[in-house]
Amino acid sequence: MRCQPLRDLVVDICSKFNQRCYFCAGLGDNPYPLCSGCEADLPWATTTCTRCALPLAFDGPLCSGCQNSPPPFEQTEAPWAYDFPLDAAIKRFKHRGDRPMGRLLGDRLGAWLLHRFNEGLPRPQRMLPVPLAAQRLRVRGFNQSQLLAERLSKSFGITVADHAVVRIRDTPSQQHLDLPARQRNLRGAFGLAPNASVRGLHLALVDDVMTTGATAHAIATLLRQAGARRVDVYCLARTPGPPRP
Ligand SMILES: [Zn+2]
Ligand SMILES: [Zn+2]
Repeated sequence: MRCQPLRDLVVDICSKFNQRCYFCAGLGDNPYPLCSGCEADLPWATTTCTRCALPLAFDGPLCSGCQNSPPPFEQTEAPWAYDFPLDAAIKRFKHRGDRPMGRLLGDRLGAWLLHRFNEGLPRPQRMLPVPLAAQRLRVRGFNQSQLLAERLSKSFGITVADHAVVRIRDTPSQQHLDLPARQRNLRGAFGLAPNASVRGLHLALVDDVMTTGATAHAIATLLRQAGARRVDVYCLARTPGPPRP
């Protein structure tokens, strides 16, 4: 009977390393359901603007938009470009309610952030998921940004202030709007909860995808006006996005 704990340990290790990869359905070689091959093939962000994560054609810290008009957030962390096959994985999570995929993506974002924290990126004191429009929340049944923030919170022990930012009004779909149109669309869309206290705090906004940055811009402006010391943005992916004026 003395070998039983060892047998359990072997079974545990085997089950961890023999998970099916969510991307290719092959037997995995990682302690999470994404095989090394598929993980290497993800559209990893390479040279990007440190402030808004926009892909850069040159090796400089900032894009021209952030140089000319610095956004109210300090840094954007996005491990991937919004491209195949990650775009399909995010859609599975977001639109088809594939929560195990959401947990996998959240945990890999956490691994990226751990690396960045070890490199010197300051850890935030609170994480704030971007709130979903009420109607979209009713249809979807969950807020993908909140689920991501909860995974990160589990990894880092950072509190999720999930009701600090509220949607005051629903906005029409922003899918086909450029940055100025999105900014107009979002005017007055967000507010701070009456009991939210952000003064002097370093905060991180959590979202699934940053497209033009208009949502992050609107919420970070609100938080900075309320006295937040610093706002960063954590998201899974960044789209190339239309050029800023
Ligand atoms: Zn795979
Ligand atoms: Zn930028």
